[in-house]
Amino acid sequence: MAFINDHYLELKDSYLFSTIAKKINEFTSTHPDKKLIRMGIGDVTLPLVPAVLAAMHEAVEEMGQKETFKGYGPEQGYDFLHEAIQKYYASRGVNLSTDEIFISDGAKSDIGNITDIFSNANVVMIPDPVYPVYVDTNIMSGRQIEFLDSHAKNNFLPMPPSQDASPDIIYLCSPNNPTGSVYNKEQLKAWVDYANHTDAVILFDAAYECFIQDPSLPRSIFEIEGAKTCAIEFCSLSKTAGFTGTRCGYTIVPKNLLGINLETDETSLNKLWLRRQTTKFNGVPYIIQKGAAAVFSPEGQAQIQKNITYYMENAQLIASTMKEKGIEFVGGDNSPYIWLKCPNGMKSWDFFDYLLNEIAVVGTPGAGFGHNGEGYFRLTAFGSKEATLEAMERFKTLSL
Ligand SMILES: *Cc1c(COP(=O)(O)O)cnc(C)c1O
Repeated sequence: MAFINDHYLELKDSYLFSTIAKKINEFTSTHPDKKLIRMGIGDVTLPLVPAVLAAMHEAVEEMGQKETFKGYGPEQGYDFLHEAIQKYYASRGVNLSTDEIFISDGAKSDIGNITDIFSNANVVMIPDPVYPVYVDTNIMSGRQIEFLDSHAKNNFLPMPPSQDASPDIIYLCSPNNPTGSVYNKEQLKAWVDYANHTDAVILFDAAYECFIQDPSLPRSIFEIEGAKTCAIEFCSLSKTAGFTGTRCGYTIVPKNLLGINLETDETSLNKLWLRRQTTKFNGVPYIIQKGAAAVFSPEGQAQIQKNITYYMENAQLIASTMKEKGIEFVGGDNSPYIWLKCPNGMKSWDFFDYLLNEIAVVGTPGAGFGHNGEGYFRLTAFGSKEATLEAMERFKTLSL
């Protein structure tokens, strides 16, 4: 008889996006004449940039020639991509060795899979509200979860807990999804010091690092002294270079980062992750890795920067409209997300219905991201300029 992993039964059904889809369907069938504007999705809309396309086309040709054909590649990625990423980090003063960089099919997979190399007895600490993957992947492995309140009182940037909490693993996401808030260097230093002091490991999700505009803000946790002995960083080309459908990310596991084993004492997490990946993963396609390397070329960087600027102009437009309407919000200055407080004390889903019915604009109810998200709402800057402008014009007509 095959027994299941009972922890899967403890997962809460994710009603968020299915409920949104249902409400949209109802609305469009009863209001066929109204043009709906979607500002809820966390997906990009601009296509891949020319440098990436050229590199992928070239790689396709190579795959069709006997002399340049590639079969299985290294599970942890090709050196040409490691070196491109190594240089990218070095440009911000972070020195990595190429075997600290692991290429993957995206940050979501790595964030979920990293739980393999840690004991299920670990206590994990997860901010609330947050990207739901951290919570669900830990429920799947039956770990005890402590939530860390992220709310207006701490500017949605929770700091290390007091003595009574003792997490072994801490998830941080900066720039944050869904709140758009970003830790500054002192705040991240406090986390790094806390983790080093308590022997905890920080899992740092930097999926939105490219959206940081303020040069004083850290884009990598490894810009903080001491991070290499306490942190793993997850990055992705999904939001930064439009790879949501193409799939490529990378994870940095420093060689100085140790975990505890009661018999052998301290063990390299880099070695464990390499073992995990070489056993359970067979690498990202050569064609995709060629495209990814082109993102880090000077042309690629200039081209993706143009797209990021486009999205950030949308974010500015949303932010200025919220200001004009006197709606409290955070985010939008260094991230593509605007996290707003629903006006007049409305609950997240009430505000969702209100926006849909009044102006046919769709956002994401904050309650879907955790307990502290109730009463909040997320708007994204990933739409087209025209649609964002139109949505904000409609917003201005609301009598709030
Ligand atoms: C989108 C997103 C990711 C994952 O992206 P992949 O497409 O799997 O690389 C990771 N973290 C956060 C916070 C995200 O919003």
